[in-house]
Amino acid sequence: MSVWYEKGIQFKCQGSGKCCSSRGEYGYVYMTLQDRRNMAKALDLNTTEFTKKYCTKTSGVYHLNENEDSPDCLFLKNNKCSVYTGRPTQCRTWPFWPDNMNAKVWSNEIVSYCPGINKGRLYSKKEIDENLKLEADAENELFIS
Ligand code: SF4
Repeated sequence: MSVWYEKGIQFKCQGSGKCCSSRGEYGYVYMTLQDRRNMAKALDLNTTEFTKKYCTKTSGVYHLNENEDSPDCLFLKNNKCSVYTGRPTQCRTWPFWPDNMNAKVWSNEIVSYCPGINKGRLYSKKEIDENLKLEADAENELFIS
């Protein structure tokens, strides 16, 4: 079946930090068990310590604690991720999230929000679909971990 992004989409992070800043439903950085393991390792903590220190469970799902005085992610420092190698699936797969890949949402919201879109290398449909699957699997895992 043909999709609107059949020919791929260019994307290269421009370091705006915008996707690391809360906005409505994009507010939480959700954390699967594997995400918590990866980020704990990057911070040299065990998963339990990391979860206690940096995560909260809301409606049965773990996410990073929110900054009390800023909409920015706790780990955003000078517009850069300070735990880049351990960043969670949600951050790795941006902007190719299932909710974003509706043609109207993409052109009306995502393109104007993220300055990295239509810049840099071309992501093929296959790569985009792989990111979509990773993100969809992570969203499902949230409820079982
Ligand atoms: S973990 Fe890193 S990449 Fe993800 S929202 Fe926070 S600062 Fe951004």
